[in-house]
Amino acid sequence: MSPTSASGANCSASFDGCAEDHLGCNGYLAYMGDSSQSWASTPAVRASMRANRSRDTRPELLLRRELHAKGYRYRVASRPLPDLRRTADLVFSRAKVAVFVDGCFWHGCPIHHRLAKRNREYWEQKVQRNRRRDSEVDARLAEAGWLSVRIWEHEDVASAALRVSQAVDSRRRAVRSTSPQN
Ligand SMILES: [Zn+2]
Repeated sequence: MSPTSASGANCSASFDGCAEDHLGCNGYLAYMGDSSQSWASTPAVRASMRANRSRDTRPELLLRRELHAKGYRYRVASRPLPDLRRTADLVFSRAKVAVFVDGCFWHGCPIHHRLAKRNREYWEQKVQRNRRRDSEVDARLAEAGWLSVRIWEHEDVASAALRVSQAVDSRRRAVRSTSPQN
């Protein structure tokens, strides 16, 4: 199920109708769809870029809905560590799992990130900064005994939810085995 299929352009026109259930058809397709001019120059793309930076994006909502339906409960858009100035999209406090849904453009997805035609250096540096910060955040979390799970917005929602639930389950088992009173 490749989200790079030629039919992808149709997805951005009617995202709700995307048959393949990708987490974030809207973001990267709007970005990729307009090759004739600078992709940041259309209002639709700018809106999509804004959407990808804020909370409650469509990919996050789909993932949350899927996990909620499976019975998982989590905090939304909160800080896993009080002294870490970074919110995770989903936080499982007891299991110490932080989930980040990363936008394909902003976080430099190896499949969908394409170099911008205009202001290439500017965008490249921005994405590099994001990637550096992502790995710093992951390292900080690991030091504090947390697991960071990163989901690309293009991932299939069911497999993304499975990845998260498996991580949470195994961490819960680990917590139980070290503290039997819980
Ligand atoms: Zn991607």
